[in-house]
Amino acid sequence: MPDNVGMVQEELGEVLRYASQFLAELPERRVRWTDGAEELRAAMGGPLPQGPQPSAEVIRKLIKAADAGIVGTTSPRYFGFVIGGNTPSSLAADWLTSLWDQNAGLFVGGPAASVVEEIAGKWLVDMLGLPSHSSFGLVTGGQMANFTGLAAARHHVLAQAGWDVQTRGLQGAPVVRVIAGAERHSTIDRSLRFLGLGTETLRLVEADDQGRMRVDPLAAALEEYDGPTIVCAQAGNVNTGSFDPLRQICEISRRQNAWIHVDGAIGLWVAASEELRHLTDGLELADSWATDAHKWLNVPYDSGIVFCAHPESHQAAMGVRAAYLIHSDTNERDQMDWNPEFSRRARGFALYAAMQALGHSGIVEIVERCCACARRFEECLSAAPQVEVLNNVVLNQVLVRFLAPNGDHDARTRAIVKGVQDEGTCWLSGSEWHGMGVMRISVSNWQTTADDVDRSVEAILRVAGSSSPAANPESD
Ligand SMILES: *Cc1c(COP(=O)(O)O)cnc(C)c1O
Repeated sequence: MPDNVGMVQEELGEVLRYASQFLAELPERRVRWTDGAEELRAAMGGPLPQGPQPSAEVIRKLIKAADAGIVGTTSPRYFGFVIGGNTPSSLAADWLTSLWDQNAGLFVGGPAASVVEEIAGKWLVDMLGLPSHSSFGLVTGGQMANFTGLAAARHHVLAQAGWDVQTRGLQGAPVVRVIAGAERHSTIDRSLRFLGLGTETLRLVEADDQGRMRVDPLAAALEEYDGPTIVCAQAGNVNTGSFDPLRQICEISRRQNAWIHVDGAIGLWVAASEELRHLTDGLELADSWATDAHKWLNVPYDSGIVFCAHPESHQAAMGVRAAYLIHSDTNERDQMDWNPEFSRRARGFALYAAMQALGHSGIVEIVERCCACARRFEECLSAAPQVEVLNNVVLNQVLVRFLAPNGDHDARTRAIVKGVQDEGTCWLSGSEWHGMGVMRISVSNWQTTADDVDRSVEAILRVAGSSSPAANPESD
């Protein structure tokens, strides 16, 4: 018999030692990676070993080789995309998840895994002010939360039209019309592809200068068709952070008997905050909602959540029965009734631990502090010459543009984004907004403070000071 206990102590010991060092250095560690694909292939590649290797040695080598290709996404000065870190409780609970390795598809695969999901889901429904009878599913991320919400929607609107999509599929079904704002997230389109609805079903409604769906054209779009209709609204635009006017959208869509799905991957969390809740006014009137715990709640990947005000439709769309499975009675939660997966990681532990450790006020504090940091970026950067902030900073997102004397603002902005990434004090990415190249700052980390903002602003302006389109023409 191999000495399992002795062995695993050595491997986990390596990991714990490295983790302590990594976390201690994180605030000052370079945020970007140092090795690219070529160096990493050289360090980690080669043929599959002919035979077994000592696993502690494998772990040591993996750490050594991978470290230079690790991005400081959990750093307080990582402002790229919309990416959260991991709080101590959620990180530790995530390690436990692998240790226990429950198959969290059925209650019998791990009762504790099922019950933590039940508890965390109810806490969330309550904290976010969603209808108390709402069902929920813990999925891999916002993509699958949108997919699952829209699958429930597809079931529901077709059932109302007398069509059971679960048995009859979409061939010959009544046409389902999907309406979304022009600035919806691309995962909405991708969900429609997965659902067999296709992207051409999508009727786009124009957005205003902040990316919010306009209400009058929505009303007109709703009038065009009186068959099964799904409206996709957004809470937190991925560029500007803006919120669609949810109350108005829900009220006029409801008149047409449409299902309203809210993509709140970023923004749903503000519903927990008294100061910011006005942004999600009317949220509770929708039918399904998607959000991400791995963004603003700072739970490790993978952690998305879907909520649904129609549990029967949610379960009809996702549930599965098979003879060899042991399904629980109504008093116990089989997760596979609410998720697209079958076998599944027990992702509820990390979510539960994060919420337990932070409490309602701790969650609100992170959200409000990130928004305050975004406003600080806005103030400091827009005070500098030749720098413009393009969006109304209502959330955690800031869009910045650097003006060039020669008029090529896009090239200068791109060069500065690249310069800042290479400089390493902080990391942020670029985007395109209304045809303009922009620097895009997203404050989503639980540890970011005003001091991190000041250090980053200083680095950005330093790079901007030494950067001109003529001197620095490459961009990527
Ligand atoms: C991030 C994001 C998504 C996708 O979420 P993932 O967790 O990356 O799958 C969807 N919608 C919006 C608005 C987002 O910001």
